[in-house]
Amino acid sequence: MHIRMASPEIEALTQALARLPGLGPRSARRAVLHLLKKRETALTPLLRALETVNERLSTCSTCGNVDTSDPCAICADPRRDQRSLCVVEEVADLWALERSRLFPGRFHVLGGRLSALEGVRPEDLSVDRLVARISGGGIDEVVLATNATLEGQTTAHYIAERLESFPIRLTRLAHGLPVGGELDYLDEGTLAQALRARRPID
Ligand SMILES: [Zn+2]
Repeated sequence: MHIRMASPEIEALTQALARLPGLGPRSARRAVLHLLKKRETALTPLLRALETVNERLSTCSTCGNVDTSDPCAICADPRRDQRSLCVVEEVADLWALERSRLFPGRFHVLGGRLSALEGVRPEDLSVDRLVARISGGGIDEVVLATNATLEGQTTAHYIAERLESFPIRLTRLAHGLPVGGELDYLDEGTLAQALRARRPID
């Protein structure tokens, strides 16, 4: 006999949470139970935060970051160094670098990496927009912070070629990053070291 533990509504909430990265059915059930017990201090604030983010969610038309404003908080910050730009594959990589607090400039999110296998071509990424940003002038250094995977390297080489004619310093995160390691999974010390020891592309 099937014993029903919760109403269909609560069951739906549990299933929605269980589909989130890092959560499974077991932790989703624990989270739901916590939310139900702590309605005032957990459920209501979570609901408000979700509503606010959902209403204001936007993609930055300058750098491709996901934020609640366009331009995003990083692009809008006058204290950031406007002369250096860090190119990353995904928003998760931008957030990882931002957590390390070591890059003082701004970012450019490509929206992926070149992949023959997955059929991702240059026009599927925001490379043209990157070239346009740099054509606009005022940028001295571009750090290519694509992942240390084969596809990440291929993407970096392609971008380096596209930027060849610009009078900018092109650098790459230092080698020694684990192959296949995505920036988001690196600890902040490793990431900081890779950024500090960045070197020119030859
Ligand atoms: Zn931005």
